[in-house]
Amino acid sequence: MVKRTKTDKVDSIMRIGIIGGGAAGMMCAATLLKEHSGEDIFLIDRNDGLGKKVIISGGGRCNVTTGIHEIKTLLKKYPRGEKFLTSAMYAFPPNAVYDWFESHGVPLKIQEDGRVFPRSDDGKDVVRVFEKLFKTYGLHVLLNTSVVGVEKKDDAFLIHFKHTPTPLVVDILVMTTGGQTYRQTGSTGDGYAFATSLGHTITELAPSLNAFFTKEHWPAHLSGLSWTQATLTAKRAKHPKFTGPFLFTHKGISGPAVFALSSLVAFETYNIQHPLEIMIDLFPALSIQTLHIKLEFLIEKNPQKQFGNILGLVVPKSLAEVTLQELQIDETKRADELGKKNLNRLCNWIKAIPLSVIQRGTGDEFVTAGGINLREVNPRTMESKICPGLYFAGEILDIDGFTGGFNLQASWATGHLVGSRIKK
Ligand SMILES: Cc1cc2nc3c(=O)[nH]c(=O)nc-3n(C[C@H](O)[C@H](O)[C@H](O)COP(=O)(O)OP(=O)(O)OC[C@H]3O[C@@H](n4cnc5c(N)ncnc54)[C@H](O)[C@@H]3O)c2cc1C
Repeated sequence: MVKRTKTDKVDSIMRIGIIGGGAAGMMCAATLLKEHSGEDIFLIDRNDGLGKKVIISGGGRCNVTTGIHEIKTLLKKYPRGEKFLTSAMYAFPPNAVYDWFESHGVPLKIQEDGRVFPRSDDGKDVVRVFEKLFKTYGLHVLLNTSVVGVEKKDDAFLIHFKHTPTPLVVDILVMTTGGQTYRQTGSTGDGYAFATSLGHTITELAPSLNAFFTKEHWPAHLSGLSWTQATLTAKRAKHPKFTGPFLFTHKGISGPAVFALSSLVAFETYNIQHPLEIMIDLFPALSIQTLHIKLEFLIEKNPQKQFGNILGLVVPKSLAEVTLQELQIDETKRADELGKKNLNRLCNWIKAIPLSVIQRGTGDEFVTAGGINLREVNPRTMESKICPGLYFAGEILDIDGFTGGFNLQASWATGHLVGSRIKK
């Protein structure tokens, strides 16, 4: 490990220390190589390999970025950080990220839903690119190296390690320590304390992109049943809502629309005493009147049929059974005996299935909402406004997006911005 004392500074070489070898740290280091010698860059991570979270992301396939190219549309995918990310996203938009990986030997593909993956469906390929680059350029990759603190002395930063008494002295410090989810990947939130020690404030932290556990037990009977397009609305101030795919699970609901809604209510309190009341509209493209007419038509056509079977023509059979149980309608009732009142109740239910969310799906949230206060960081450079020479990138910032490659995109873009703004 290369270390120096303050007197070494006479050689006028700028040394850069990056704490955190995840997506943001790796992209920052790779970009720095355009202007800086690998000899001057130190990428530090407590793990025995780089990009542990990148490798497991997207279920191991790594949803690298998104196919959305319109920056304004892209920025709408970030409940926190939308405005702040503007410069970073224009400088390194999803198509530039796409080209970067392809030109570095990782062929990519865009799925129909707009998500971008390596063609190999292997997140390790994404990390390998960086490993190869760092080896070629002789960048100092310090693995199995836990940072326990940072200090600023005069114009230099001292990085203190757990197992080595001598600190590493650098001129520029980049913090890319991530959030505090999936802590087994090394992202334990240490960076928040480091940043605080250098004068920064941290906004409230909360898990985001999580599943919901519900008070109702009936979702368990439908576990695995998925819906490609439903609208989920939370009955809280501003009525946050999201339309997209979701599925029932043995404890509640999950899937992209649920993750997005969880992100919109990341700072709301909900529990068994004060549940988060939500409504699911299974047919957002159909008005309640159209649904009514559709069911009426089916009833008129099949007056003798059991109503449970008729409802089974509109929603999956298992959901039809649960619906009738919840509304206490006898499923063996003949269609022509259902009555107007029950038909109305049914349509209302399908258009706004009520569920009480009592818990976040614990331990499985994807990102941390909250982080370094964005007012303290220059969005054009990612440099601290409080401590010159200190930069931030990635999830450590108060930035988080929906699922679909948006969080990695933010990490690549902010990491790239730091790397291109640190001039020799
Ligand atoms: C299961 C899962 C799946 C996901 N899937 C996707 C997806 O498909 N697409 C997407 O866009 N986003 C996805 N995300 C989110 C995305 O992976 C993260 O937002 C992104 O990786 C954050 O990158 P980062 O570089 O900021 O931080 P991280 O990737 O968390 O990297 C931080 C690094 O800092 C190191 N570190 C922390 N503290 C210290 C210390 N004290 N000393 C030394 N090293 C330290 C850690 O070991 C870690 O390697 C997923 C997240 C999870 C948990």
